[in-house]
Amino acid sequence: MIKFKVKTETREAFYEITLEVQRAVDRSGVSEGICHIYVPHTTAAVLIQEAHDPAVARDIVTHLRRLIPREAGFEHQEDNADSHIKATAVGNTVPVFVEQGKLCLGTWQGVFFCEFDGPRTREVWVKVQG
Ligand code: ZN
Repeated sequence: MIKFKVKTETREAFYEITLEVQRAVDRSGVSEGICHIYVPHTTAAVLIQEAHDPAVARDIVTHLRRLIPREAGFEHQEDNADSHIKATAVGNTVPVFVEQGKLCLGTWQGVFFCEFDGPRTREVWVKVQG
């Protein structure tokens, strides 16, 4: 397993990590297989979305905030129940095919780390299976 860190700067934001994940694939030495990208946190997530226009990621953050507002009368008393729900909605693992040592992503796709309770220093775990 290969780990790398993501330093987040605001409470909620997406960070493209495609290059870091590709570097992990390079380090693994696997040329044909599956790359599992896993986020070991309960208020952060990972997803594949459009990387061409950064407004797409910002729009997703904004709309998740509308769907799951911070002040909605939750039982959880850490002021981050909304962060847990957003992380649940997005998910904490993503598989990507690997061929010829490269992540198989669509033309407009990128891998994003999703922060929902920052700023923090987070981890991403990558396992590449040949
Ligand atoms: Zn919590």
